[in-house]
Amino acid sequence: MQRYFIPADLWEKGNRVIVTGDDFHHIVRVMRMTEGDRIICNHPNGQAAICKIATIDSDSITATVVEELNEQVELPVPVTIAQGLPKSDKLDLILQKGTELGASRFIPFQAKRSIVKWDQKKAAKKLQRMNKIVKEASEQSHRNQIPSVTSIMTVQQLIDESKSYDVKLFAYEDEARSDHFRRLSDVLNDVNESQSILACIGPEGGFSPEEVGALKDAGFLSVRLGPRILRTETAPLYLLSSISYHFEELR
Ligand code: SAH
Repeated sequence: MQRYFIPADLWEKGNRVIVTGDDFHHIVRVMRMTEGDRIICNHPNGQAAICKIATIDSDSITATVVEELNEQVELPVPVTIAQGLPKSDKLDLILQKGTELGASRFIPFQAKRSIVKWDQKKAAKKLQRMNKIVKEASEQSHRNQIPSVTSIMTVQQLIDESKSYDVKLFAYEDEARSDHFRRLSDVLNDVNESQSILACIGPEGGFSPEEVGALKDAGFLSVRLGPRILRTETAPLYLLSSISYHFEELR
């Protein structure tokens, strides 16, 4: 069944939902649904319900709740991926796949070795596009929550932001080259469910020594993601898959 994320103000009392905009277009023009067809509507609070299309107007649909769903598909530990700004459209891929794998938030940051610079003039449009990617990926992967995407941060802003997290990690390529590396599984064994994780990934060129020092001083633990050096876009996906396996499959 198609799934749509409906803003809170479009959920009416008496279990009615109004669908407008792109979702309206998708339901009526792309899916060619008619009255009586069913869709799943998600409330921003994480609740989902099967709804039946009651009326189709020129620019909106009214649907009525048929059945409340009690789905558990969100990662038990909320994970934020802080991604050193990569080249070209790699960030789009990280947002899409990272959403499928359960990330709850994405923070792009301008790393010293990021080859591209964030174009502030295009920032608003870029953020809009990134939010569209995570919304569509959430619908596609039947999530109950859409991850949030922040504006680009500096490393210092990221460190300030990190104070609200329980566990702070950074994936460090030099851990992969060391005989005395820190295992991700050892870190995850010490994490309780519902503790929040912030994980930083370096750009193509990796972290600079100054960034490594600043992150360590701020209490970030460096971890290895296996013995092979991964591309920057592979690293967050390895991390999220490992966290899913650890908390959702292993026990
Ligand atoms: N050019 C660098 C590698 C950068 S890989 C070099 O050759 O040393 C890009 C980012 O992915 C790294 O900064 C790190 O955050 C992450 N990464 C890739 N492979 C990793 C591994 N095996 N362990 C930990 N982090 C890794």
